[in-house]
This record gives sequence, structure tokens and C-alpha cells, in this order.
Amino acid sequence: MPKLAWPKDLFKDHRYAVCGLGRNGISVVKTLLTMGAEVQAWDDRSPSFEEAPNLTLAPITDLREFDALILSPGIPHYLPSPHPTAILARSQSIPIWSDAELLWRAVRKAGSQAHFVSITGTNGKSTTTSLLAHILKEAGIIVAAGGNLGTASLALPLLNDDGIYLLEMSSYMLERLDHYHAHCAIWLNTTPDHLERHGDMEGYIKAKAHIFDNMGPDDLAILGESAPWTRKILPQLEKKNVPVKTVSVTKSYPFELAPHLPGLHNAQNIQACHEAARFLSVNEETIQKAIISFPGLDHRLKTVTSINNITFINDSKATNAEATSHALKAYDKVIWIAGGIAKAGGIESLAPLFSHVAHVCLIGQDSALLAETLAQYNVPFTQCKILEIAVTESYRLAQELGVDTVLLSPACASFDQYKSFEERGARFAHYARSLSLIAKK
Ligand code: ADP
Repeated sequence: MPKLAWPKDLFKDHRYAVCGLGRNGISVVKTLLTMGAEVQAWDDRSPSFEEAPNLTLAPITDLREFDALILSPGIPHYLPSPHPTAILARSQSIPIWSDAELLWRAVRKAGSQAHFVSITGTNGKSTTTSLLAHILKEAGIIVAAGGNLGTASLALPLLNDDGIYLLEMSSYMLERLDHYHAHCAIWLNTTPDHLERHGDMEGYIKAKAHIFDNMGPDDLAILGESAPWTRKILPQLEKKNVPVKTVSVTKSYPFELAPHLPGLHNAQNIQACHEAARFLSVNEETIQKAIISFPGLDHRLKTVTSINNITFINDSKATNAEATSHALKAYDKVIWIAGGIAKAGGIESLAPLFSHVAHVCLIGQDSALLAETLAQYNVPFTQCKILEIAVTESYRLAQELGVDTVLLSPACASFDQYKSFEERGARFAHYARSLSLIAKK
């Protein structure tokens, strides 16, 4: 089943204004032009763009002749203060859309009935999106995955009727939808985030709840259970006769059935993908096999190597204590590598999980602060300063103490020593693999 090209006259006679030329805006402009639309684009900071016949690069001062304004997710249309272009759109009754809305319209206008699956939540979006993509691909389905992370929505290809779009959605994308209709929508969890843009928790929930807009009895809503907001959303879905499946963070998943997705938080992500895949007509055996073969996402509890039965786990994405709590819960006993730039509160909230820690190897700028907390709870630690030493020392300690897991889950940002959490994770993997080469000699 080939991926199709967008028809060149799909949006002929359509006019769109694009405000914000970041990753998202650039793909919106380029794709709209290939679809034959007329585009006016502007970015307050860097309006540079290659010239093109149907493109006007100029500040957006009048929207009356436009079909819609496409506002980059990073630009607020309401709180903390609306961007002037958003105020203009409202005063001239022009709709404000995200690129997901445009993608949906383009796919339908091109005559394709490809299904859309939306995924949102404060945590677990990338894991769930990648796992579901993996399962569907293993089932032989053509999948285009992207959105908030990875490929921007409008940079995804046109799929035919049998194809499935998986869109990871942020609250900013969700509140700018109109006709977009997900056949299956997954809302994993919600903890306070981006409140400056949504006013308060209620505003944040309201924005996220748009994920279920336009859904009906033939669709499926998958909802993380036990959060107070679930109780508010369920009656709304019942009223529209939308079938609902709930997924919990309290049901564990056997390790041998998901070797690269440890922990209760991942069990929830697996359940969500399982329900979605079943709903999308993938058979049980294919789903089970695909969950086993899923290689995991880099920097999220990813096994990088094993030396003499000691496994090295890279969880460099855990840049705060909350994320590290999931990692510590996933293992009985670890040598824990932590440190970097600490977040407010440090690692104090992890104290109930210190029983999972045999020894801590500390690195980075705030290691003295972390050491204070560890000393307070009598957790043994070594100041290693840098990751290379921490890896060697962890391996020695693991052997000495009979512990089979070395876990890098820093609970801190990486910028004191690395460009990004990705670079920190890659160095960890490199040092651990180098150790394995030495051990084999
Ligand atoms: P996102 O794309 O939403 O940032 P990821 O899949 O990259 O999410 O996971 C980031 C971190 O969030 C993980 O390392 C883990 O600590 C935590 N996490 C993942 N899934 C869940 C979940 N279902 N519930 C709570 N926390 C989760």
C-alpha cells in the first residue's frame, strides 16, 4: 500500500495565514503551498523563508479574506496574554487552528477515510505513540506518527483509507481543533503543567478534553483512571454514547511479556496501546508479540548493556524527582546514578523509595545538595563528580554488593555537564559498553 502524494490543487482557492515560523509553522507553509493554497506567513522574530509564488511574507494585519489562522503551538491565543494576531482573528471571526486540524481536513478533502488516533497526557505520550505505532506496523498497517513530537502533523504523508495517523497532541494543539475527529483517543494522565497558558487546572483539563470532540458511538475513548478529572469527563462521554476503556497505573504487566517497558507507569501505557490496537482490529497474538519485540525508547528505562549479569539502564530523560520515582519503583534494588542541576525540592520526595537503592553514585553541580538528603536518610553514596567515574564505580559496587541493576535516572537537568539529556544518556551508554568490552577481554 503506497503512501500517496497530496493533490496539487487540494487547497486551490484557499487562503491561510500562518503565524509563527518554527518547526510547526515551516511545515504548515511548505505543505499548504504544495497543496495549492495561498499563504501569508509571519514570525515576529525570524520571518525569513524562501520565496515562493503563492507565499506572502508580511505581518498579518487583516484576516478578513482568509479561511483560517494557523497559530504555532508556542504562541498563546488566550493566556497569559493573547498574541495580537489571535486578537485580530477573534475580532474578525476567523477560526484559529492547529496543524492537526489542517491535516484532518486535507486527508478528508483528498478523499481518504484514513483513521486518526490522538494521544495526550502529561507523561507517557511518546512511549505510547511509539509502542502503538510499532504494534500497528507489525500488523502490516501503514502508519504515520507525529504531531507534538517527531514529525509535525502537516509534514506527514497522505495515507489511503486503510492507513492510520497517530498524533501526539499537546493541550495547545487540542484547543485549536474544529472538525478534527479521532476514531480512537487516548488521554493517559494529567498533572499540573502549563498552567500559565490555561489559567488553572480546570482550564488545562478543559483544553485536554477537546481530544474527545466530535467522537461518537463508533469510536473509542481510552482514559487513565483514578484521577479526579476522570470523574468529570466520563459523564460527558456517556452522554455522547462514546465507548470508554479505562487504564490504570496499579496493574503490573509481566516482565517477560514486555521486557523493554518496565514499571507500573509503562504498564498503563501498554494497556492503553493494547486497547487501541484491539479496537483497530489487530489480533491478540500480533499485539502480544509486538509488545515483546518493542525495543523501548532511548533514555527512558532503556537497557543499554549487560555485563556479568549486571544490567545498565539509561533513564536520562528523568530530569526531575517525579520521573525518577517511576524508575526506582520499577526495580527492587539498584546502584543509582543521580545528579546534575536539581529541581526545586531536590530528591526529598523520593525518600519512600530509598529502600530500592543499595548505593548512590553522585555526579554534577548539585551533588552536595543531593548528598545532604541521602545522608539524612542513611543512604550510602559516593561523590563521583563525572559520569565516566560513576559508571565504573557503579559496576564495582554492583559486583561487591550483589546488585544486578545500575540505573542512570538523574532526577536533575543535564545542562551543567551536557548539551541535553540525550547527550548524557548517550555518554552513559558509551561508558557502560566500553566497560563491557574491557570485561570481555
Ligand atoms: P512524554 O512524551 O509525555 O514526555 P515519555 O513517554 O517520554 O512521555 O515518558 C517520559 C517520562 O514520563 C518517563 O520517563 C516516565 O518517568 C514518565 N511516564 C511515562 N509514562 C507514564 C505514565 N503512564 N504515567 C506516569 N508517568 C509516566
